[in-house]
Amino acid sequence: MFKTGFAAGLVAFALAVSPAGAATKVIKFGKLVDGSGRVVENAVVVVDNNRITSVSSGGAAPAGAEVIDLSAYTGIPGMIDAHTHMTYGPDPVLRGTRSNATNMVLGQEGLKMTLESGVTAVRDMNAADYLDVSMRELINMGVWTGPRMYVVGCGLRASRGRFNPAGAPLGCGEGNGPNEFARAARQQIAAGVDWIKIFGSTGSGDDVTQFQTVTYEEMKAAVDIAHAMGKKVGIHSYGPTGARDAIRAGADSLEHATDMDDETIAEMVKRKVYFLPTIDHNRYYFDNAERFKYPPGAKENLTNFIARNLETTRKAVKAGAMIVLGSDAIYDMFGQNTRELGWFVKAGMTPAQALASATTVAARMMGMEKSLGQVAPGFFADIAAVDGDPLKDVDVTINKVRWVMKDGAVVVDKTRR
Ligand SMILES: [Zn+2]
Repeated sequence: MFKTGFAAGLVAFALAVSPAGAATKVIKFGKLVDGSGRVVENAVVVVDNNRITSVSSGGAAPAGAEVIDLSAYTGIPGMIDAHTHMTYGPDPVLRGTRSNATNMVLGQEGLKMTLESGVTAVRDMNAADYLDVSMRELINMGVWTGPRMYVVGCGLRASRGRFNPAGAPLGCGEGNGPNEFARAARQQIAAGVDWIKIFGSTGSGDDVTQFQTVTYEEMKAAVDIAHAMGKKVGIHSYGPTGARDAIRAGADSLEHATDMDDETIAEMVKRKVYFLPTIDHNRYYFDNAERFKYPPGAKENLTNFIARNLETTRKAVKAGAMIVLGSDAIYDMFGQNTRELGWFVKAGMTPAQALASATTVAARMMGMEKSLGQVAPGFFADIAAVDGDPLKDVDVTINKVRWVMKDGAVVVDKTRR
């Protein structure tokens, strides 16, 4: 054993760098399905601190390592949900009556539910008061438990659409005209965000209107500044014209876009813009229309929009677009983060392609293809265990997650060992 002083120092060091502690862990899976399409039978995954150091078939465990026997399960990479709203609070009815900070603290339930769905990283796509930056910090410090967060701060939007008395200061992320959009992008980056988000059209909740609200010039100004400062940009557009302009302006990802024509889809594929259809969030709004007190006609509108949303996704799949999992989870949708993958299969993907949209493809979009989205040496130890074969049935990935490791620490364990 270590001498006391050295051991104490080691523990303190381990706590500072990794909530998982310094131990080597060995995880045994009946089968490992990697995000890259590789399948390893009788997989032995060795994890040192927060990194995977080796993956083999039937290899021996290093002496003294903690062995986690999940041989009844299939291992998959921890998934990435690239469109969430973790700071919005747990319910829509009371959201407006509480402070933003209170909603962020209550968001811990969403963090927990997200991990339980097998998601170990999220790109969070808008927050008030840079609460997403705070949430990311608390998680990275190990004070809160949650998925890795990559955040955008305040989504950029045009202020001209709302009541704006003369002389009133612009809200966070707001602007009119290219100069103000460029400034708003700089402000987000100065606040420590990872990505820039632009609300390029109307649409959210029961609002399935698709009006473009940000001009091509405004999008371009924000994109150019972001790219010059090393940040990527995701643009929200429910409608086809905003989508076309987002792609032309150089967006790195396109969120929600429905009714895109073939030419726009072809351009999206050519420019390698990632597409997050977010079909399932409309299903969530449909399911909760009464509880959210939507006006008459909302359910019909949503049903109609979902059909078109799915059809656009089907065309994009056929055209070879890079499609990424984005739940657009808010309120109490957390835990359902991966239901979108079921829509992807309906749109023509195989279960393996759906899994890739939540792992390798999403990691590439994030520029983290060397550390996220695979169970392979050198990658972060973000791993999930599912009950069944995720290559045969997407429902296994969606509903049968039994165990989750994030950053080398077991954060969910519902196994029957
Ligand atoms: Zn969203």
